[in-house]
Amino acid sequence: MAEKRDYYEVLGVDRRAGEEDIKKAYRQLARQYHPDVTKEDPKMAEERFKEISEAYEVLMDPEKKQLYDKYGHAGVNSQFQGGGFNWSDFTHQSDLRDIFGDMGFGGSIFDMFFGGGRTRGPHQGQSLRYDLDITLEEAAEGLNKKITLPLTVKCEACGGTGSKSGKEEVCPQCRGTGQVQKVERRGYSQFISIGPCPHCKGTGKDIKDPCPECDGEGWVRKRKTISLDIPKGADTGMRLRVKGAGEPSPDGGQPGDLFVVVNVRPHKLFQREGADLKMVKEISFPEAALGATIEVPTLDKKTAELKVPPGTQPGEVFKLKGLGMPRIDGRGQGDLLVHLKLVVPKRLSAEQKELLRRFEGSDTGKKGLFGRGKG
Ligand SMILES: [Zn+2]
Ligand SMILES: [Zn+2]
Repeated sequence: MAEKRDYYEVLGVDRRAGEEDIKKAYRQLARQYHPDVTKEDPKMAEERFKEISEAYEVLMDPEKKQLYDKYGHAGVNSQFQGGGFNWSDFTHQSDLRDIFGDMGFGGSIFDMFFGGGRTRGPHQGQSLRYDLDITLEEAAEGLNKKITLPLTVKCEACGGTGSKSGKEEVCPQCRGTGQVQKVERRGYSQFISIGPCPHCKGTGKDIKDPCPECDGEGWVRKRKTISLDIPKGADTGMRLRVKGAGEPSPDGGQPGDLFVVVNVRPHKLFQREGADLKMVKEISFPEAALGATIEVPTLDKKTAELKVPPGTQPGEVFKLKGLGMPRIDGRGQGDLLVHLKLVVPKRLSAEQKELLRRFEGSDTGKKGLFGRGKG
């Protein structure tokens, strides 16, 4: 990947830009690059969109913005190391709903993805997706993972009203509807669009004494840590649904869900095939010819003994029962399949060469099988 661009540059805003400017820039860019509506090259748009979302996420979070301003990308990335956490894993469904709501898409794009019908009455909160990378060992043992999610939650200080005293008046600009009409000219055409009221940001309320905790927004960005149990035998592509762990509902409905998508990283020794594990083990010619008991590494960092019978051929596969992965349904374990690879020595001492020549000669007169052997 190319070097990360500066977040301010990504959003095209000044370093001193306030929250409103950042929001505005984000909205504009998101309209241009969101994969579902973009007119640009889809691949490029997706990349750009991720970049924009990440920049927005960081610059809108006061704590992270401060770290970023001080230390650059290192300041915000280091926080997430080890947890597999990545801001670009998240798409800001709630912000996007705003945007596409403004554009007249209604909620359709999101409803397609998340199945929440945009009907009257309480709406379900946004669902989130989290991509979780785990090791093969972790998949075998199962694990408990704490993950941290950025959520929009109701401001507790003002009960979500946005007003310090709890007093709200009707917005004078939109008369409480939260929407205003805008007439725009583009060339010879005139467009009338309905957008959120700039005075009340679409809430329809006029807050005279904005709550200091949430700047009168009524909601705050908060990080919430949840504990996840990844079952034994989890495999790549597995989707865990944590009901109610998504964004809260804006109007008293059910919260969204959290979908955790598991990815098991490749292992340097073992390849997984369902519940079975496969590995390659090298053996020497004498071991294959005479038979031997060899040690085979297992996933639990122990070793198992494998009895190789005399006369074993290169490429033969032996099965160690029950030393594979646990089955996800709890019905026992898969097997460990050991592919034997015969290793021919590259360097031989004079004595070894002599022994091999004699061996070759003793083999009922067959010649040439082991080099220039001569009886
Ligand atoms: Zn208004
Ligand atoms: Zn508040």
